[in-house]
Amino acid sequence: MKITDWTVHMPDQNYHVFVELHTDEGVSGWGACYSQTPQAVGALAWLKRFVMGENPLEIERVTEKLHQLTYWHGRGGAMTHAISAINLALWDAAGKILGQPVSVLLGGRCRERVPVYGSVLFHPEETLTKRIEEMRARNFRAVKLGWDPFGQQSLADDTKLVRGARKAAGEAAELLVDAGGSNPYWAMRMKDALERAKMLADYGVYWFEEPLAPDDLEGYARLTDLSPVKIAHGEVLTRRQTFIPFFQRRAMDIVQPDATKVGGLSESRRIAWMAEAYGIELVPHGWNTAVGLAADIHLVATLHTKSFVEFNVGNPLVETITQHPFQLDEDGCLEVPAGPGLGIELNRQRMKQLQESGYSAASWTWEETGQFEVT
Ligand SMILES: [Mg+2]
Repeated sequence: MKITDWTVHMPDQNYHVFVELHTDEGVSGWGACYSQTPQAVGALAWLKRFVMGENPLEIERVTEKLHQLTYWHGRGGAMTHAISAINLALWDAAGKILGQPVSVLLGGRCRERVPVYGSVLFHPEETLTKRIEEMRARNFRAVKLGWDPFGQQSLADDTKLVRGARKAAGEAAELLVDAGGSNPYWAMRMKDALERAKMLADYGVYWFEEPLAPDDLEGYARLTDLSPVKIAHGEVLTRRQTFIPFFQRRAMDIVQPDATKVGGLSESRRIAWMAEAYGIELVPHGWNTAVGLAADIHLVATLHTKSFVEFNVGNPLVETITQHPFQLDEDGCLEVPAGPGLGIELNRQRMKQLQESGYSAASWTWEETGQFEVT
């Protein structure tokens, strides 16, 4: 069996690029990456020659070959994101060829359904309560709120925001807060973060995500030691090697690799096993697409530790591009697909419609204009 071609789909002009691998026996596999669309498309064009003719069952060898071939111009960024899409497509294709779900091929399922947290931004504040109530009505038992204005205003204003969120989510909900430290103009420093971590503990917040800039290894090590709530980090790191110093320094309680950025499920699985050895929880970052969510469901199904999958509520690339929309059960869980591969069927017509409409995933003013508002 050989890979004969692939089709690149771009239902999002901004970030998310899909790869559909074709084989000579009619089986295809889907992958996706979270990058910048033109960069990912360029990287895929360069990588294509090294994938064509390969055996789709030799996932690790083919993926590692791509990492090694991009030694001089890869090692992270768009090249690694593009490799992630190829790797996910290989897992999906291999599962379909072998008639097995990806979670079985990854080593076996510890559970048949996975807990989910619904993820939305704090902004716009005016609709926050309503959005949380809608999530509760859809059975989300865990809610994550993130980014602006949290951490960019006074502690008193942040406290008010979290108090309101806890009230709307209810006492029983798992509440998570994402500071958004991957924003390049992130202003929060160690003591601001610690002050807020203490406040979040008062509201029973389970984890505090990215409260420092992503490369601040020593800062994360100190904060993880001092914070009364768990510290989560890692959504913008790529390649397993970059996680090692954070694990060695115990510089996080929860690690959040994104399968559509980090190098695919092969890399996420390696990171998961390393995290397990260091006693660090793994919860995949999933602010991406239905393909990323399906990959996360399979990965989390293989973990024997507590975890969640992230569900980006209202994102059309998560909620509208599969033939059978993801549906939470009454306990706030998603079933692990039993079908072969990733176990989802994509709706090409819907993807095409998004592409033709010029759909662009959420972006921030500073990305569109290059202007940062520093206060
Ligand atoms: Mg985040």
